[in-house]
Amino acid sequence: MFGKIGPWQIALIAFLFIVLPILIVFFRSVRRGYKGGSKNQEKTKHIAKTTEIKIKEVIKVRCPYCQSLADVDVKKCPNCNANIN
Ligand SMILES: [Zn+2]
Repeated sequence: MFGKIGPWQIALIAFLFIVLPILIVFFRSVRRGYKGGSKNQEKTKHIAKTTEIKIKEVIKVRCPYCQSLADVDVKKCPNCNANIN
């Protein structure tokens, strides 16, 4: 069915069953190391902070009378009650 199984076939099967799992485990650990790096986490945190500030700038409007920040959808300033928009 498989023909003659010589020492080379046994060596090849042994290679596939021993070396391949080691390689798979090694590459998985390397990928985890890149994802879980402390430097990368700091970078993503920094990006999240900057986007948060940008969103706040977009949805907030500065009152021309008291210079305090108010929401865009609010028609009156929450600080000095002046009309905005
Ligand atoms: Zn105001």
